[in-house]
Amino acid sequence: MSSTGATTVEARSLLWTPSDSVKDVNRRKVIRAAMADPGITQVSLAKRLLLSQGTVSAVVSELQQEGIFRVQSEEGERGKRVRLGAVRGVAVGVEVNHDRIAVAARRVDTSAVEYESVAFRADQGSSSWVRESANLIKELTVQTGLDIDHIVSIGVGIPAAVDPRTALVTQVAASLDWDITGSVPERFRDHFRDVPIIVDNEANYAAYGEHLYGAGRGAGTMLFVKASVGLGAGFIIGGLIYRGRHGYGGEIGHLTMDPDGIPCRCGNRGCLETLVGGARLLEQVRQAYAGYRADLPTSVEGMIERAKRGDAVCRRVLQDAARTIGLALARVCNLMNPELIVLGGELGRAPELLLEPMMDGLRLYALRGMVESKDPVKIVGSDLGLAAGARGALGFALMTDRTVEA
Ligand SMILES: [Zn+2]
Repeated sequence: MSSTGATTVEARSLLWTPSDSVKDVNRRKVIRAAMADPGITQVSLAKRLLLSQGTVSAVVSELQQEGIFRVQSEEGERGKRVRLGAVRGVAVGVEVNHDRIAVAARRVDTSAVEYESVAFRADQGSSSWVRESANLIKELTVQTGLDIDHIVSIGVGIPAAVDPRTALVTQVAASLDWDITGSVPERFRDHFRDVPIIVDNEANYAAYGEHLYGAGRGAGTMLFVKASVGLGAGFIIGGLIYRGRHGYGGEIGHLTMDPDGIPCRCGNRGCLETLVGGARLLEQVRQAYAGYRADLPTSVEGMIERAKRGDAVCRRVLQDAARTIGLALARVCNLMNPELIVLGGELGRAPELLLEPMMDGLRLYALRGMVESKDPVKIVGSDLGLAAGARGALGFALMTDRTVEA
């Protein structure tokens, strides 16, 4: 610990002690933002929190006097950087996926993130994902040098739509054969009794991760596309996650591309996912090589590796998929006009192969002004890779002051 002695404050009590006075609310906002983004400048704090410079400056100097903040001002007044002082706490983010569980943990007074991802097998029982997540959270918390009593909050991203007003699961993907329904925080109660658990869709959290820590830093409106076995997306508008009324905001994978197309796992027909989902891509490679090759890729990851090594079939299938995703993105752009699109998930591992064809698809169908302006909409690869979801869950759970929206 960099700070010791009886004056060390518990981060959890700083953030979750109820008080509605404007002063306390602003104080908590500033502390939250400084925990979520260690070393943030005072100017950025004001911008992110929509508070005046004066308000932030007053709160920061009060917290500095209490030893809660350390302020470095080597770059002058505007460059004042804020870090936590004598505060003890660890923030946690979890991303649960069809085949993987990833956890990020970080002490609130440092930038060093502990991260681990393990393969997840749903056939271990319907609640195994909770048990496995809890074990990984405990393991990584210990690696930060603290124990689970010091956990401030846990963000949990799940592959399902989550109602923002109740934090209950709205709809589980029909393809999941494990049980994720109901109240996720209740399921974690036995493991982490008094810790606020903040639940959201995993693509929303990945979008937030890129917004806060990755390729989307500074973008006012951003669309994050997660292209793996399935296709998800998350919208960040003005620093907030856009979820919509039922939590379906960003379900790009189920955009209807062909009303007469093949059935989708959601029950509709011709969704984008039926054209470019992982299973469809692998099937195309299988068909192309049928009777000629036996050593075929069995995962999207394997396919990308082959494409990078020059396999012409894998390359063609992936690049055509990227073009089709670009067409879907053009529709989204014509509706929402984002500043930036970040490509993540498995396909985000090969930006050198896929960004160009994706941009081609976008250019063909997006309104001219968006793609031909001096400052056109951009598509970039993810910075955080497959850690985006867990990192974003960690950051969002720190930033939010409520466990449900309403
Ligand atoms: Zn669908």
